[in-house]
Amino acid sequence: MVAARIIDGKAVAARIRAEVKAKAAALTEKGTRPGLAVILVGDDPASRIYVNGKKKACAELGLYSEGYDLPATIPQAELIALIGRLNADPRIHGILVQLPLPAGFDERAVLAAIDPRKDVDGLHPVNMGRLLAGLPGFVPCTPAGVMELIREAGTEIKGAECVVVGRSELVGKPAALLLLAAHGTVTICHSRTRNLAEVCRRADILVVAVGRPGLVTAGMIKPGATVIDVGTNRLPDGRLVGDVDFAAALEVAGAITPVPGGVGPMTITMLMWNTLQAALWAMEGSPF
Ligand code: NAP
Repeated sequence: MVAARIIDGKAVAARIRAEVKAKAAALTEKGTRPGLAVILVGDDPASRIYVNGKKKACAELGLYSEGYDLPATIPQAELIALIGRLNADPRIHGILVQLPLPAGFDERAVLAAIDPRKDVDGLHPVNMGRLLAGLPGFVPCTPAGVMELIREAGTEIKGAECVVVGRSELVGKPAALLLLAAHGTVTICHSRTRNLAEVCRRADILVVAVGRPGLVTAGMIKPGATVIDVGTNRLPDGRLVGDVDFAAALEVAGAITPVPGGVGPMTITMLMWNTLQAALWAMEGSPF
């Protein structure tokens, strides 16, 4: 018997995109069209697909976008100089540097060159600090999407046992901080966690962001739990799967995101949301 409700990330993303489109149109009428600069360095095929997806989403939602396609051989100083020009460009409200950068670049230095008010990926230390301090700022797109999906599931976070598996700066850590800010009781697990299964079984809300297919089995899920699977893994047979054994977890969880069609569609959507927010703040005054 299938117990879990499947959380439809595509539907949630479509709803938020419609809202961004309407608000972007209203802003454009007032003279500020939200604009995003997308910088790709090198020719990693996966990165190119992500970058194209971001530019396409801008076009669909009526946002202005500029793409910069730079060779992997570009000196870091030139990349930082480009970011400096975009920081000063009033048409650009958000700057996104597609990660990972090719070998040889100092990713932290490059991200730190972005004006925090244009850091729509939420990876500048100022925005990380603002998230830690509970101040308004830009939240990384994937964990922001995770929060929307938990809300969609109707799961109350306040007081809930929340377990986040994975502690990356991109997903795990910010997801944990967002759950904490929403008054969850949060545990963060990682590769050195002892008794991962036992810790996961305590979770009313389980967020998994590791990158290992089949890591979370049905026996690690509390009956009725809300499970958000961030993992995106390509199997040798070409199938895309998450970190959770989806078919088995369906029998135990209360609500669960599929892969694909769960967290995936949310990431670009939240980037569009952040770009809209950046334009609003540029017009009305930013909180920082
Ligand atoms: P990451 O930087 O590689 O971090 C993986 C985390 O998992 C690390 O904190 C690592 O622990 C932990 N880990 C590794 N093995 C573990 C184990 N056996 N048990 C418990 N924890 C373990 O990856 P990421 O960038 O956070 O991404 C995670 C997954 O989400 C990937 O599959 C990625 O493709 C996917 N993703 C999806 C989207 C989307 O839009 N859907 C966006 C971003 C990422 P240590 O810190 O101890 O090494």
